[in-house]
Amino acid sequence: MSQPPQPLHAPLEISFDYTRSLGPTLSAFVTALAGRRILGALASDGRVHAPPFEYDPRTGEPPAGFVEVGPAGSVVSWTWTDRPLDGQPLDHPFGWALIRLDDADTAMLHAVDAGSADRMRTGMRVTPRWAPNAGNGITDIACFEPQGAGGGPAAPAGTAGAAPEPVAIITTPVRLSYDHTVSPGESSYLLALAEGRLIGQRCPVCRKVYLPPRGACPVDGVPTRDEVQLPDTGIVTTFCVVNVPFQGQQFPSPYVAASILIDGADIPFQHLILGCQPEEVRMGMRVRAVWKPREQWDVGHNIDHFEPSGEPDAPYDSYASHL
Ligand SMILES: [Zn+2]
Repeated sequence: MSQPPQPLHAPLEISFDYTRSLGPTLSAFVTALAGRRILGALASDGRVHAPPFEYDPRTGEPPAGFVEVGPAGSVVSWTWTDRPLDGQPLDHPFGWALIRLDDADTAMLHAVDAGSADRMRTGMRVTPRWAPNAGNGITDIACFEPQGAGGGPAAPAGTAGAAPEPVAIITTPVRLSYDHTVSPGESSYLLALAEGRLIGQRCPVCRKVYLPPRGACPVDGVPTRDEVQLPDTGIVTTFCVVNVPFQGQQFPSPYVAASILIDGADIPFQHLILGCQPEEVRMGMRVRAVWKPREQWDVGHNIDHFEPSGEPDAPYDSYASHL
């Protein structure tokens, strides 16, 4: 069977919300930011670090105290971003700068909304532009701007002067977007799956059949070019019952995620087992694929789940070397 001319690729996004407890030092820093103040940490050598350290660089001890710094400061060094990415502080060209806030001895990294690179320079005076919302950590400072620009709100109503609630936990969204390219072997597999067929590849040396195909045998280190069409039936080798709900879960728990050894394949793949109670799932259970309705078919997502086929269980020895 011929290989597709170009490997398939598709956009892929991995994201989760990272919820972290701040600890005493960063909690003080973030709480102060929510009140539109910036704190530095007093080090054992008398220097003031802003943002604050959690452990003194010399002694490893927590800060001896906090001092208010800035909010204005001076650019120590900088670079220019012509094409901002999603999630960056500004959606138009801006500078990344190390800014030494007044009364601090160290610099902090933040964005400077200078309009153009021509206006950026080392030593320029900048002041924070506060974000409309508070309590989100360093992004409470939307960016810095050249002193005197007066663009954003200096201190939104209701926050200036008020004692903010202590911030002990913040949520940081983490997101990675990229274009995922699969190998030629995986492309063949996905294109066949789009037609309702399961295609594996056989190693010419050890004769093992890999599903999905990996393009090479990890044991023999040779390309696997012989394609093998496989049925949509197999054996549950191992499994786990998912009882813990999580963000983005698509099925009510409990449900079973299993390693399924397709008949004729030598390595199992992961899929869902539905159509029975979780406690009925067992090693050696025979299962078959439940395909989505054809009008819902899409490359790579055509098997909805596997369900028990009702056949007698496979003896352990028949799959013991494929766990
Ligand atoms: Zn091999």
